Amino acid sequence: RTIRGFGTNAAVEELVTPPVKISYTQHLINGQFVDSASGNCRTFPAYDPRTEKVIAHVAEADAEDVDRAVKAARKAFDEGPWPKMTAYERSLILLRFADLVDKHRDELAALETWNNGKPYEQAAKAELPSLARLFRYYAGWADKIHGMTMPADGHHHVQTLHEPIGVAGQIIPWNFPLIMFAWKVGPALACGNTIVLKTAEQTPLTALYAGKLFQEAGLPPGVLNIVSGYGPTAGAALASHMDVDKLAFTGSTETGKVVLQLAANSNLKPVTLELGGKSPFIVCEDANVDKAVELAHFALFFNQGQCCCAGSRTYVHERVYDEFVEKAKARALRRVVGDPFRKGVEQGPQIDSEQFKKVLRYIKSGVESDAKLECGGDRFGSRGYFVQPTVFSNVQDDMLIAQDEIFGPVQSILKFKDLKEVIQRSNTTRYGLAAGVFTQNIDTANTLSRGLRAGTVWVNCFDVFDAAIPFGGYKMSGIGREKGIYSLHNYLQVKAVVTPLKNPAWL
Ligand code: NAD
Repeated sequence: RTIRGFGTNAAVEELVTPPVKISYTQHLINGQFVDSASGNCRTFPAYDPRTEKVIAHVAEADAEDVDRAVKAARKAFDEGPWPKMTAYERSLILLRFADLVDKHRDELAALETWNNGKPYEQAAKAELPSLARLFRYYAGWADKIHGMTMPADGHHHVQTLHEPIGVAGQIIPWNFPLIMFAWKVGPALACGNTIVLKTAEQTPLTALYAGKLFQEAGLPPGVLNIVSGYGPTAGAALASHMDVDKLAFTGSTETGKVVLQLAANSNLKPVTLELGGKSPFIVCEDANVDKAVELAHFALFFNQGQCCCAGSRTYVHERVYDEFVEKAKARALRRVVGDPFRKGVEQGPQIDSEQFKKVLRYIKSGVESDAKLECGGDRFGSRGYFVQPTVFSNVQDDMLIAQDEIFGPVQSILKFKDLKEVIQRSNTTRYGLAAGVFTQNIDTANTLSRGLRAGTVWVNCFDVFDAAIPFGGYKMSGIGREKGIYSLHNYLQVKAVVTPLKNPAWL
C-alpha cells in the first residue's frame, strides 16, 4: 500500500520483497572475491533501512586487507596490461561496462534501494542511466588525453606527457553509492590508473556488484579493487597507505580534515575532497511562486534530503514570502512517504539509525529556537528510519538548523529584502558547495551567480548532474572538482620532457 502524504499517520506496512538476490559480499581483490584476511574472515552487517533488519554479512576490511588490495593495484599498475594497452582498448572496456550497467539496471537499482532506501524509480530511471552515461563520457576521453609541445626558450623541444598517477585510493559515502562509485572510478580508469575503492559501511553492496560487471567487461585483475569496512580502520589504512599515489574522498567535512592529515602525514599524496554543504536556494520577488515552491521542494527533499548540495536554506523574497510558506507547507504535506519500492513513493527512509536520530535532534533544535514548525517534525510510522517531511519558517541565519548540514527532509525558510543582502547572507557559511537561484530576470540571475561563492550555481533548475558538468566546493566544501574534463587532472601526472633542438652541449 502506498501511503499518500504523511498526514495520514499510517505505519509503513506490507513491504515489497526486493526483486534481487545479494550475490557479492566479499572484497574484490586482484579480480577475485575474497574473505577478509583479518579477524578470521570478519564480517559486518548491511541493513535494510525500511525494516532496520540485517540483509547481508559483508567482509570487513582492516589494514591487512587494504594492504592486500593496494599490493594488487600496485602490481596491476607496474606490471599488468592496463597501463600498456592503448587508450582506445581501455575505452572499449569502459563502454562494455556501461552496456552491462544498462543490462543489469533493474538488479542494480533494486540493490541500491534495498540497502540505501532511496525510491526505486529514482534509482532505476535516473541514477542508473546517469551511471552508464558517465562511463561512456569517460570512455570518450580515454584516447583524447594528451600533453602539449612548446617552443620554450627556442633552443629546446619541450613536450609534456600526461601520465596516469598510479594507484588511486577512493573513499565514498552512502547517499549515492553507485553515482559516487562512478564519479571516482570513471575518470581514474580513463586516465589509466589502478584503484582501491572503499565503500561506505552502510552501503557496500552495489559497488561490489558493479565490480563483478567490470570483470565481465574485461577489466584486467587488480585494476579495480573494492574493499568494504569502517572509516577509522579500512578508510584510515587507505588514506595513510605509503603506496597509494592519490586519494579521492567524498563525505563529511570533519572526516575530510582527518583524511587530509593522514595523507599529509604518510606520503603526501595529493587529495581531492568533496565535502558537506549548506546551500542557499534563492527565490526572487519576480518568481512564479508555484514553480518556485516545487523546485525548492525538490532541491531540499530529493534523496530524503541526503544530498551534500541540498538547497537547505530556502531564502524567499519578502514580497512572496507568505504565499511561498503556505504553499511549501502544502507541498510537503502532499509528499508521498513510504516503501521506496512502491510506485509513486517520493521519499523512503533515512540511511540508518544514527542519521535518523541526528535529523530528529536537529528538528528538536529548530522547535526549541524561534523557528515556526509548519509541518512534520517527527518520525513517520513506527518501523524503519522514516522521517516526516518537515518545514520550518521564520528561520534566522544564526539558528543551528540554518548553519549545520542536517542531511534530512527538513526545509528551513528564511526571508530576505534585497539582492546585496541575500548574497552576503548566503555566503556567510563555512561551506560553498552549491546554490540555487529562481528568477525570470537575467540581470538578477547574473548578479547572483557571480556573487555567490559556490562551486555550482543552478539558475532556474537544481541537481542537474550531467557527466560533463564539474562539481566541487569552495571553502570547507572541498578541494578540487569531479566530473567533466576537470576530474581528469586529478588522476594525471604531468611530465616535461626537454630535448635540445640541435648540437646538445653535453654530448
Ligand atoms: P563520513 O565522512 O563519516 O563517511 C564518508 C566515508 O568516509 C565513509 O566511507 C566512511 O567509512 C569514511 N571514513 C569515516 N571516517 C574515516 C576515517 N577516519 N578515515 C578514512 N575514512 C573514513 O560521513 P558519514 O558518517 O557517512 O555521514 C556523516 C555526515 O557526512 C552526514 O551527516 C553528512 O553531513 C555528511 N555527508 C556528506 C556527503 C557528501 O556527499 N558530501 C555524503 C555523505 C555524508
